[in-house]
Amino acid sequence: MSEKENKKGAQILEDKTGAEHIIEIKDLCKSFDGLQVLKNITFYIRNNEFITLLGPSGCGKSTTLRIIAGFETADSGIVNFEGADLQTVPAHKRHINTVFQRYALFPHLNVFDNVAFGLHIKKVPKDEVKERVTKALKTVGLEGYDKRYIDQLSGGQMQRVAIARAIINRPRVLLLDEPLGALDLKMRKEMQIELKQMQRELGITFVYVTHDQEEALTMSDTIIVMKDGIIQQIGTPIDIYNEPKNAYVADFIGESNIIPGKMRKDLEVTFAGKTFECVDPLFPEFKKGEDNDVDVVVRPEDIYVKTEDKDRINGTVESIVFKGVHYEIMVKSDNGIDWMIHDVDPVTVGQRVGLTFDPDDIHIMRRSQFSPDLDSFGVKGSDKEENEDE
Ligand code: ADP
Ligand code: MG
Repeated sequence: MSEKENKKGAQILEDKTGAEHIIEIKDLCKSFDGLQVLKNITFYIRNNEFITLLGPSGCGKSTTLRIIAGFETADSGIVNFEGADLQTVPAHKRHINTVFQRYALFPHLNVFDNVAFGLHIKKVPKDEVKERVTKALKTVGLEGYDKRYIDQLSGGQMQRVAIARAIINRPRVLLLDEPLGALDLKMRKEMQIELKQMQRELGITFVYVTHDQEEALTMSDTIIVMKDGIIQQIGTPIDIYNEPKNAYVADFIGESNIIPGKMRKDLEVTFAGKTFECVDPLFPEFKKGEDNDVDVVVRPEDIYVKTEDKDRINGTVESIVFKGVHYEIMVKSDNGIDWMIHDVDPVTVGQRVGLTFDPDDIHIMRRSQFSPDLDSFGVKGSDKEENEDE
């Protein structure tokens, strides 16, 4: 690419959709006190998308966000905003604003003045301030609350004020760091839906941080799963849920049964001592006709509890707990594997059952450092090919 193109904002990261990237981050590294907390982080953010950094506490989500905001400097790596280097732009000149979990509102000011604060500093004319604050309060569902003081508001309302204040300057990108973390479950669920609606209406790119997988699945266009400063997977919520790249992602995103297995040919996998039809071909590096080690994921809601049968995984019901929508059933199969099943029909503890699933509910992954420990599965059972007859 020519220098001129680069200045105009040529993209440096490949994206098959051809979408416009508002932010691109490449090989971002950051250490604190000799401890590396971001390890070559690379991803792009499409214009107007709702993207979520998801991972357990301490994995580097906030640090990534703070580098984008300009509150923290990276040790190395590229951060581009519309193709131009962002790291040389001071925080207050970036078209980016942040909403934190702690709202940082001014208790001595009313709602109107809290939201108007940034505009007052910028000496925006009074009429315009009034118009913009009114519009922002309407966007966050706080019409008519302008005269209220902060201590007269609920947690959810305070968070709305914080969001109104963050969008008043019409940022191109809004960074949200666990903004719903302080709310109770019911309010959090309501706000998740509303935030997603706000994002669509405003046409602002949202970069959201959470450790809550359900929250990420509910709101995001794109999810980035992080662990220990490394990106494990980037994809849509459906991709991440249905096609997890490794055992870590499968386990972090929802509940799953992860079992070691072997593939000798396309569309067939052996695990738990039986061979099943599946929808995945061998990975390109796999050798046909040899035992290629894989991890197999079957989600609890995809397993059917039926009667014992030679083609099924047979076992004994160990426990059953009513969870509201479904029962959570634990079955120990005869080869010693524990299976979690979600089913609407109850069974009884001690009952003999046979487990089945559809070929497209078997998901195959490469083995990784996060794979289940083979010994704990008594894998001798699954090594012993029962269906050697072809
Ligand atoms: P997350 O937001 O995913 O919980 P953070 O990005 O806040 O994680 O932190 C990642 C790691 O960096 C943690 O181990 C944290 O203790 C450390 N860390 C973050 N900020 C600082 C800092 N200013 N000084 C020292 N260590 C820090
Ligand atoms: Mg954090």
